[in-house]
Amino acid sequence: MSQQTAFEQLNPKLIKALDKLGIHKPTEVQQEAIPIVLDGLDLMASAETGSGKTAAFLLPILDRLLARKAPNSGTRVLILAPTRELTRQIHKQAEDLTKFTGIQAGLITGGQSFKEQRAALRKNPEMVIATPGRILDHSQQGATDFADLEFLVLDEADKMLDMGFSDDVLAIANYCSKDRQSLLFSATLQSAGIRHITKSLLNSPESITLNTYEDAQTNIHQSIITADDLEHKEKLTSWLLQNEKYRKAVVFCNTKTQVERLSGLLRYHKLKAGHIHGDIRQDKRNHIMVQFRDGKFDVLIASDVAARGLDVKDVDLVINFDMAQSLEDYIHRIGRTGRAGAEGSAISLITHKDWNPMASIERKLDAKFEIKVVKALIGKYQGPQKLKKSGKAAGKKKRKPAGKKPQTNREKKRLAKKQEKKASNGGTKPRKKFGGVKKSDS
Ligand code: AMP
Repeated sequence: MSQQTAFEQLNPKLIKALDKLGIHKPTEVQQEAIPIVLDGLDLMASAETGSGKTAAFLLPILDRLLARKAPNSGTRVLILAPTRELTRQIHKQAEDLTKFTGIQAGLITGGQSFKEQRAALRKNPEMVIATPGRILDHSQQGATDFADLEFLVLDEADKMLDMGFSDDVLAIANYCSKDRQSLLFSATLQSAGIRHITKSLLNSPESITLNTYEDAQTNIHQSIITADDLEHKEKLTSWLLQNEKYRKAVVFCNTKTQVERLSGLLRYHKLKAGHIHGDIRQDKRNHIMVQFRDGKFDVLIASDVAARGLDVKDVDLVINFDMAQSLEDYIHRIGRTGRAGAEGSAISLITHKDWNPMASIERKLDAKFEIKVVKALIGKYQGPQKLKKSGKAAGKKKRKPAGKKPQTNREKKRLAKKQEKKASNGGTKPRKKFGGVKKSDS
């Protein structure tokens, strides 16, 4: 089958929209998914953001909508995604691809006026793109019409489950026509949660597994720099952003506090930086993303949840200020760069606390990250002295905490609270204000 075939089957109005976007060749997931959806089959696919998965479901769905008349005035397509940012990006791609079709897509997420959304739903957009919680509220209030729904899409299903939307998704499906076609996209298809959703909602689905981890590595240069502590990481980040070549950079931190602290610090060093995290209001987040896309600033500091689905062209540097805590998050983060075949670089800053999560990700990826050295900022920590076979630090056995084990539920809760408090303080001493950064070659 030639590479063009999957697009060649599509309605000319869609080809025209693709031409306008400068898209001429299907990505792997598009090449595989489009014929399956056009054949009317259910589909489960493992594909990451950045693989072209959004168009992989939008294109064949739009083709089918154009090919047959709507049975009534109800919604024909419902697309569920875990975050507002991701729904906005799907909506944007839907708007781009429907440009010559007259098909309307509505966006329904939390954080927006209920009344306006109800009015929008009353106009019966053929496609609804939504986060699960809000659309379920509307369905429960009778504001939706999914009785003749033709397509249900669950995008980033694994994240929806992680965020606790499993019951909502199953409840929404109860409002949808049983005759629909269902498509599920997820970073992984292996978890018990995904298997449950797939079994409950999909009908003898075809399955596509893309080797996304390998794909991610072919065009993204991945390296690590060892760091002593947070202060050292801050200096390294500042140095990298002042000395590395990039068009746009995203820096990932694991906590909101660190996102804010780093953003302030970089601005103090006259770097044009903005930041997003889960506590920032959605309208403000949208505004920041527009500014980042428009180049008002070229560095974005972000937490994982806020950055989910973030799709900005020209991001060619990702810095993991804190190492991602899971392979999925790591792949998602580095996937912000090297999008649709472009080249990118991902640098992770590794203290002794980050080493084992890093080693575990390296092992799962079957990769060896290059160890990069910034000569001007070499610290004491150069990695563990001894390594286990797994690449993790071979250390002393952890001592059991002193004192007797908690017996009652109240004691257990108190201990959990104490540990949570300790973790949120980061277990660090108060830090001195960060001084200047020396420039040097790396
Ligand atoms: P997604 O994986 O859906 O988040 O898409 C990632 C990016 O790739 C989006 O900006 C799309 O516009 C772009 N894209 C989608 N399909 C293609 C394609 N066939 N060729 C080049 N870029 C594409």
